[in-house]
Amino acid sequence: MKTFPMFLQMSDRLVVIAGGGEQAAQKARLMLKTEARLRLVAGALEPELAGLVVRGRAEHWPGDSAGAFAGAALVFIATGDAAQDAALHAQAKAAGCLVNVVDRPDLCDALTPSIVDRDPVVVAIGTEGNAPVLGRQIKTAIEAMLEPNLGGLAALAGRMRGAVAQAVPQAGRRALWDWVFAGPVRAAHARGGEREAARLLKAAVTAGQAPGVDGAGRITLVGAGPGARDLLTLRAVQRLQEADVIYYDRLVDPAVLELARRDAQRVYVGKSVGAHEWPQERICALIVASARQGQRVVRLKSGDPGLFGRAEEELSAARAAGIAVEIVPGVTAASAAAASLGRALTERGATDHLILATGTARDGAGAPDIAALARPGAVLALYMATRQLGRIRADLLAAGWPGETEVEAVASASTAEERIARGTLDSMESALAGIAHPAIVLVRFAKDACARPVQLRRA
Ligand code: SAH
Repeated sequence: MKTFPMFLQMSDRLVVIAGGGEQAAQKARLMLKTEARLRLVAGALEPELAGLVVRGRAEHWPGDSAGAFAGAALVFIATGDAAQDAALHAQAKAAGCLVNVVDRPDLCDALTPSIVDRDPVVVAIGTEGNAPVLGRQIKTAIEAMLEPNLGGLAALAGRMRGAVAQAVPQAGRRALWDWVFAGPVRAAHARGGEREAARLLKAAVTAGQAPGVDGAGRITLVGAGPGARDLLTLRAVQRLQEADVIYYDRLVDPAVLELARRDAQRVYVGKSVGAHEWPQERICALIVASARQGQRVVRLKSGDPGLFGRAEEELSAARAAGIAVEIVPGVTAASAAAASLGRALTERGATDHLILATGTARDGAGAPDIAALARPGAVLALYMATRQLGRIRADLLAAGWPGETEVEAVASASTAEERIARGTLDSMESALAGIAHPAIVLVRFAKDACARPVQLRRA
């Protein structure tokens, strides 16, 4: 960011607008939305500006401009004359002011954003001058999203904050406001039922909680997808924004965590380099303990939480503790890998079943028997297999699968580090040499290929 958005305090502050024509009038219109005191520095004022002076809404400063800027919180320079603008800019800077010069971004300390105004709710949009049309499109979309009288609801909430803080215990307050802004209070207000909205809100305050909200914690196992944050589902984003605490894994991209509320607690429970993984029992105990405190817990897992993610341990722990638990599915790595390859997972006429398997066994268990999974017409998507390539190749060849059987691999699918490799069973170790964890290995067994019985092949 070359610029940083902030909301400037304007109540009873001095704003100086230098210029007396249409450009200055545009800036004055903008500033009239605020509670600032306006000073117009110009010899002559066009009628709209002159009217402001007559009504006492602005002060006219026709004399020497040098003294006009002292103490100004913000200065707009908009005379329409480049040389005059530059001179006034120098004077305003000498007075130590924050300055905006119309059409001279190089001279600006501050740029005016596009604004969606639902005072006191204000959305400011800026593109740092790169894409004004995009800025306008975003403004249009947000204008359509926010009902015209939304500001009134926010103001009502502001008036009720004190009463809510007194009547509603801390743990239930966020749920109450969620209910206000996403439920019947907002709906009533949006259709013009301002009194009805206030009545509903006051009833909830009297009851000490939002109707139907018991303040009980809950656990949601959320699929974060393969990496790219726009591969999250809308529901996953919603749960992230509701979460009080998020327990996340190693493969979850930091960009995904940015989708959470700023004040949500984030706890990393993955393996760090050279260290051991968090014991699963400890993760289970933590998420249950957080939910017992009334927190909305998100357990964020890469891909789909139900695939090689130890979801069942966490589901059982939650259920055993009587805590509500939910799964939000995600895009699994095999789907993302196929997308990266620009290929379908199953191809009509060639492959008609998909087997998702892990190449690595649990600690202590023998290596998974990959050859036993292979079938003509199957696509085998192998997770956690990058360190097992030699064994997988040897097992499949030994089972009689042809050396030209297609093998593809995608590492870090959907991320900036994505790597793709294509080869055959014969060439797979060299073809896949550049493929590192995390990766999916796809083996496509042709329909007409058949594993010869091992004994015959050896005979
Ligand atoms: N629940 C996850 C899988 C977790 S197991 C899912 O549904 O995708 C971890 C394995 O997933 C990794 O070893 C790797 O095989 C695979 N994986 C995860 N993210 C990946 C990615 N972006 N690209 C390729 N493989 C990935």
